[in-house]
Amino acid sequence: MNVKVNAPPAVHQLIATLEGEDFETWAVGGAIRDALLGEPGGDGDWDLATRATPRQIQRLFRRTVPLGIRYGTVGVFGPDDILYEVTTFRHDVITYGRKAVVAFATSLEEDLARRDFTVNAIAWHPERELFDPYGGAEDLEHRLLRTVGDPAERFREDYLRVLRGLRFAGTFEMEIHPDTWKGMVDAVPGLARLSMERVREELLRVLASAVPSRALELYERCGARALILPELQQGIGPSALATIDAVRGRRTKESRSVAAEVRLAVLLLFGAGLEADPTMVADTLTRLRFSKSETERVQAAISGGLGPGAGLLNDPVARRRWHASLGRWRAHDVLRIWFAALRAGTSPAGRAEVFRLIAQARSDLRNGVPMSLADLAVAGRDLLEKGWAPGPEIGRTLGRLLEAVWRDPGLNDRAALLELAAEEGPVR
Ligand code: ATP
Ligand code: MG
Repeated sequence: MNVKVNAPPAVHQLIATLEGEDFETWAVGGAIRDALLGEPGGDGDWDLATRATPRQIQRLFRRTVPLGIRYGTVGVFGPDDILYEVTTFRHDVITYGRKAVVAFATSLEEDLARRDFTVNAIAWHPERELFDPYGGAEDLEHRLLRTVGDPAERFREDYLRVLRGLRFAGTFEMEIHPDTWKGMVDAVPGLARLSMERVREELLRVLASAVPSRALELYERCGARALILPELQQGIGPSALATIDAVRGRRTKESRSVAAEVRLAVLLLFGAGLEADPTMVADTLTRLRFSKSETERVQAAISGGLGPGAGLLNDPVARRRWHASLGRWRAHDVLRIWFAALRAGTSPAGRAEVFRLIAQARSDLRNGVPMSLADLAVAGRDLLEKGWAPGPEIGRTLGRLLEAVWRDPGLNDRAALLELAAEEGPVR
């Protein structure tokens, strides 16, 4: 295999510094895998494995962060101000999920043995080039995913590896070796023991990848989806997959993470049979330990479905009510889903209809059609001055005035609204 690893200058420098003190040091893990695959740039994190102990690493560099001293990991800022993880060669004595009991290993080979897949167990050194005792480079060339060692044992040590494997196979279009696949399928029930935080992070990594459908299909096939998201009764079929892939946002890390959230919304929308019940969605997201604000954001994104139905298209009041309930910012997520559905051919509306609706909503904003009680030409204070008793009736009246203005935007005028209010409510 043609070895072409272009490590950033900072990585060369960190390795040189450590080796200057006679601490053998290699670059390992995802960055090497991605470099050998020729993945363009990526934001691959470069991780280093070294014979130096955490204390020795901390002594050697000025700017360090104790990321996980117990596990041998020190963060070191490179001259490029990027934080690199430098980890002492280690092997896992006992592994149970994250709670591995680790000991320092005497060799790089031992360190690589604890890594999950052969393609993740390749080490690279600026002069010595590859150290690859498990044949990871060849597996990469054949796009073959295999565990380092016995699959059943490796998955039992840490069930998250099942999900990681599905993600790697999906994102890099790799075949899963039959033994590894069997080990994965057998290990699926063990996923129930993982912490929801780890599952959520892994799922988001899938959704942030360029084409999530391949990994998601594998989730479905091996039964992982049914275990992690049992409430998605419809499962993840071809329409859901196509729509998820069609959600854009691939350029920056940030746009990928936003896309991941919108894609999650699409997943829930399809899984719930396109009539996503907001309560069910909230329950699912809470179980996956999403924050309240993330949950609300996903709920809002789903509220427009896959596109405007006849109700929104033909009824300006319904459109304005819906627009107001979303607010400007959240409407953006809804549109991302609608555009994705148009691209994927899963939209209930046509392109022209969607654009007409957007134009109408924009024109409402331009024309100052009120989108909240605060935008009305009268306020609660005005009603009090007119002799209304303080109380909930004031809010209800304002709500009715807002609806009236949505029916006839010309009504948003102080005198007209006060007159209307007087007709509507009791003046005391
Ligand atoms: P990504 O490109 O998504 O970051 P990665 O392979 O770099 O993928 P990381 O979570 O950054 O994944 O981990 C870095 C390396 O640490 C992996 O390549 C692998 O060698 C090892 N590793 C990480 N998680 C596990 C695990 N659960 N079990 C075994 N080895 C692991
Ligand atoms: Mg990584």
